[in-house]
Amino acid sequence: MKKLLTVAGVVIVASLLLALRSAKLTIEKKNADQESLLALLYQQKAGEYRALCLQAYNLARYRIDSIAAIYKGAKPMAIVTDLDETALDNSAGDAYAYQQDTTYNPNQWDLTGHPDAVPGAKDFFKYAAGTKKFNIYYVSNRPALPPILDATSKQMGDLGFPVSATEHCFFRFLPAAQVGSSKQPRRDDISKTDSIILLLGDNLIDIDSTFDKINKKYLSSTERQQRVTNNAAKWGRQWIILPNACYGDWEAALYNNAPNPTLGLKDTLREQQLKVYDYLHPVH
Ligand SMILES: [Mg+2]
Repeated sequence: MKKLLTVAGVVIVASLLLALRSAKLTIEKKNADQESLLALLYQQKAGEYRALCLQAYNLARYRIDSIAAIYKGAKPMAIVTDLDETALDNSAGDAYAYQQDTTYNPNQWDLTGHPDAVPGAKDFFKYAAGTKKFNIYYVSNRPALPPILDATSKQMGDLGFPVSATEHCFFRFLPAAQVGSSKQPRRDDISKTDSIILLLGDNLIDIDSTFDKINKKYLSSTERQQRVTNNAAKWGRQWIILPNACYGDWEAALYNNAPNPTLGLKDTLREQQLKVYDYLHPVH
């Protein structure tokens, strides 16, 4: 009996220590965004995330097969795709920043990180470039600096993506403050020589300029949703979007263009924007 009580005591103390440790880890985060934890786990662990990505790339394959069968244009057929969280999964770099209670350093990750491939992406681009002879244009807002271009090409090559032609990488020229985040000028350049059949991205600005900032300000969440609805027929046809719950303009739009919002302000604005059904004061 005494032994049993001793064992129970050890279990209770261990549980308390574990709980305290968990609480301590939570409290200690001062710089990392606590809310990124669940989003990161969704990307890394949810079967549903994987299924959404495979679904997107299965659909992309179906679309290029269908269009290639009837295409009669003079220009070569092209696919324009974003990289981060569309073809490359960078969640391990984000998770490192979270664990270290710091903010994500994109340049460090671009140069020395080890992204994974988004499920379905590598096989799709290999099929599209190899079997179907589409030109693949990687239009990314990673900085267009030679070391970053080289490092990204190597990361993608190591993962098995087709990256034979570096001229097919359209990264963002610096300074970003001047050129902004819009990818439309790069899409326009590509359209001079190629017929863009399909666009893929995890952020609406990867797809079309209708989702770009206006006067350097993000569109509101409501406006973004409205513009998605206005183009309802294009989703799954010319336009394919991948899931990204970790970051993106969808998140930035929540903060009403507040300059450099603190974590506290972000939390407040997030809560304010929830759609809530008030049981005590229902509105019909
Ligand atoms: Mg992206």
